[in-house]
Amino acid sequence: MAQESSLNGHRNEDQVVLFPVVPLLECPHLEQVEPVPEQGLNVHEARCANCNSANEPWCCLNCYTVTCSRHVNGHAINHFEQTLHCMTLSFSDLSVWCYACNAYIHNPILIPAKDAAHRSKFGIPHPEVELQRDG
Ligand SMILES: [Zn+2]
Ligand SMILES: [Zn+2]
Ligand SMILES: [Zn+2]
Repeated sequence: MAQESSLNGHRNEDQVVLFPVVPLLECPHLEQVEPVPEQGLNVHEARCANCNSANEPWCCLNCYTVTCSRHVNGHAINHFEQTLHCMTLSFSDLSVWCYACNAYIHNPILIPAKDAAHRSKFGIPHPEVELQRDG
């Protein structure tokens, strides 16, 4: 009796992580991004500098001021309008938005800031830090 021992459990667990919106890989404002402050980023105690809201904080990647999203009191947009600092990091989902380009941006320049926020939020390095170690 021949035994069928072929494993048909062909598992497909490679899940492609899709961005909700396809981000741009470049934007002229990446030059604005300043190094992360020495003390790092504190996602848990982030509050809007204008209204003290802890909801949906965004962190300016030029001066590291934390402001609230357009769904709260819109102080992140105010910050952009007043300072022209357009690159901002969401402490909610660690995405980077450029107000000048009106787009999400995904670029290696942004990884140190994402990493600092990721360490604060989850206690471990951002996954993309590992991918960068090849150079
Ligand atoms: Zn606010
Ligand atoms: Zn700023
Ligand atoms: Zn831009």
